[in-house]
Amino acid sequence: VTPPSKLYPRDRIRRAQDATAQAGLDALLLTPGADLRYLTGYDAVPLERLTCLVVPADGDPVLVVPLLERPAALASPVGSMDLEIAAWQETDDPVALVVDRLRTYGRGALPKRVGLANRMWAEQVLRFRDRLPDAELGLSSTVLRALRMRKTPAEVDALRSAGAAIDRVHERMGEFLRAGRSEAEIAKDIGQAILDEGHVRADFIIVASGPNSASPHHEVSERVVEVGDPVVVDIGGTTADGYCSDSTRTYAVGNAPQDFLDYFAVLLDAQARAVEAVRPGTSCDAVDATARELITAAGYGQWFVHRTGHGIGLETHEDPYIVAGNTEPLEPGMAFSVEPGIYIAGRHGARIEDIVVCTPDGVERLNTIARDLVVVDG
Ligand code: ZN
Ligand code: ZN
Repeated sequence: VTPPSKLYPRDRIRRAQDATAQAGLDALLLTPGADLRYLTGYDAVPLERLTCLVVPADGDPVLVVPLLERPAALASPVGSMDLEIAAWQETDDPVALVVDRLRTYGRGALPKRVGLANRMWAEQVLRFRDRLPDAELGLSSTVLRALRMRKTPAEVDALRSAGAAIDRVHERMGEFLRAGRSEAEIAKDIGQAILDEGHVRADFIIVASGPNSASPHHEVSERVVEVGDPVVVDIGGTTADGYCSDSTRTYAVGNAPQDFLDYFAVLLDAQARAVEAVRPGTSCDAVDATARELITAAGYGQWFVHRTGHGIGLETHEDPYIVAGNTEPLEPGMAFSVEPGIYIAGRHGARIEDIVVCTPDGVERLNTIARDLVVVDG
């Protein structure tokens, strides 16, 4: 387990402040979510009572918390940081508290440009807008995405552990996936295994059998798995240190149909080639194009209906997105999924997904188990 001080280094807020200044913003206001956790290690619970990390371009940051959340904040890595905590009492006005701080940073003037956490609740956004009527409100991601996209070695370690944990769940699939069991029953067992193998939370469980495998975001249903079904299993969770896993393998219960086997071979090759295309300087859309061109050349292009991948870290889906039109070049430390799929409407489908990280000279897969079709007993 990586110590919190390595995963959430104390100088990170300082770096965020510098980036805030460089972006021409006066401050960031971060309510509970991945940005707040990224800067402090504090996994704050989103509540109607305001918790907000105020990160000024210039000045000392402050964590505004409801008094009753103060012990939880202190029990997090915040407790060993040199960070002021301003606790508000039940009848105080926490928005006024934040605005007062902003005025202090501005030596009496209110800020002109503020970045709000991308996932801030609308009711809080509207309160800030009311109290900062002349400020231009933008998104924290304009400042933080560049930092969060480039994972530190400690973050890559955390993602590697999460990847190994979800790999262990896939390796146990023969225990859960059998003809005669419903998708829902299978998913219940998988959910327990996700926890048992090293996550604190199962974030999603897709068990898409037979015709359901042609729906990329099918979750589970009462459908009973039959002999001959292809089954797409896409699962992920969050580990105790906050980092996420996400991996898909496609299974066959007994002998799968020949037309399925034909395109599965194409998909397997396309996924491998797309992963091999990952290196510093290659654009995100070039990785997408590598998979897409192979699938299209084999005649299945119209059935590959989604982007090739998404970044992953403290959130399952974050920058960078591996999608046509994203010309951003890959850099060492960027971690994302490579997950092409082929979905023949009304019949069946397949997806293969690994999390990879761009390294100084190429790529490392964080999911390392075999990705061939896994045939389980009917
Ligand atoms: Zn997935
Ligand atoms: Zn994914």
